[in-house]
Amino acid sequence: MISFLDLYKINERSRQEIEDRIKKVLNSGWYILGNECKTFEKNFAKYIGVKYCIGCANGLDALNLIIKGYGFKQGDEIIVPANTYIASILAISENGCTPILVEPDINTYNINPDLIEEKITKRTKAIMVVHLYGQAVQMKKIWEIAKKYNLKIIEDSAQAHGAYYENKRTGNLADAAGFSFYPGKNLGALGDAGCITTNDDELAEKIRAIANYGSDYKYHHIYKGVNSRLDEIQAAILDVKLKYLDEDNNRRKEIAKFYRENIVNPKIILPKTYAETSHVWHIFAIRVQDRDKFQKYLEQNGVQTNIHYPTPPHKQGAYKEWNSLCFPITEKIHNEIISIPMSPVMTNNEINQVVEVLNVW
Ligand SMILES: *Cc1c(COP(=O)(O)O)cnc(C)c1O
Repeated sequence: MISFLDLYKINERSRQEIEDRIKKVLNSGWYILGNECKTFEKNFAKYIGVKYCIGCANGLDALNLIIKGYGFKQGDEIIVPANTYIASILAISENGCTPILVEPDINTYNINPDLIEEKITKRTKAIMVVHLYGQAVQMKKIWEIAKKYNLKIIEDSAQAHGAYYENKRTGNLADAAGFSFYPGKNLGALGDAGCITTNDDELAEKIRAIANYGSDYKYHHIYKGVNSRLDEIQAAILDVKLKYLDEDNNRRKEIAKFYRENIVNPKIILPKTYAETSHVWHIFAIRVQDRDKFQKYLEQNGVQTNIHYPTPPHKQGAYKEWNSLCFPITEKIHNEIISIPMSPVMTNNEINQVVEVLNVW
């Protein structure tokens, strides 16, 4: 079976370095908010090209902390794509704000910038963009809208570590961005982890305090904060793996190029990109009409797949109040989408096999 994503194999490549760094943390006797966290934050900020990186417990918390940092609350509206992983939307509703769903562009699966302006009201505070599957959102029009209506832009960059829009990386395209380092992401920890990137001095300071019990210095609490910190062990592991992120993303791009040039089955809709550097292929998602049958066929022929995602947020039990709403493009994508194996440790033999199996269907 060709694995969808072999995490063991991914981490095995850096086993010695990871073991050495974990040992160093163990020996230091300091496990939270220490030098490893500082070092990784500095290196990741430099990689993204921003002034600040603030480590936190996971990607959902990163988005949550940005919303808390801006002080958005009950009654405030935040525009968000209808076609996203539910975390983007949960971060908004967890803070009592109202998520305003916008349909995606069927070609990129990202929010359709042409449909944003009509959703803006007096209560709109921000636009959250999601660089879905690893492809950077085309920001130009969204920047113009945000400027015109004085809105903040928040990036959900949980799937797009290293992708570019024009000459800047995701995480440096807006007011603030949330990253996840969940093990399966392009830069993944060995457990939960996340961070916020921003160039905003005031926001950075505030988020750092909120994430640590609202405390600016020990036992001095200026906000009703939360506990969301990046462990020293995870920071050390991420700092090792960050060095290989570009290399890994380049291998993903190579595989994506091969898939796009060699999968020639007219029943399969391949992903589209608007620029080579825009996509880091966290997920290689294709569309087919008869998905269940297709998935079974792949399984029987040794190709493991996944569906990102089978049910859109507005059809989930968690959002019963939205269940009767209709977002036809989002629903079409959710009905047809299926993700094929994509990871930097796939061999040429494996990608050849995937192509062969897909072309025969
Ligand atoms: C993974 C993911 C998140 C959440 O990250 P966690 O670290 O699992 O909390 C948020 N948004 C998107 C788009 C994601 O893919």
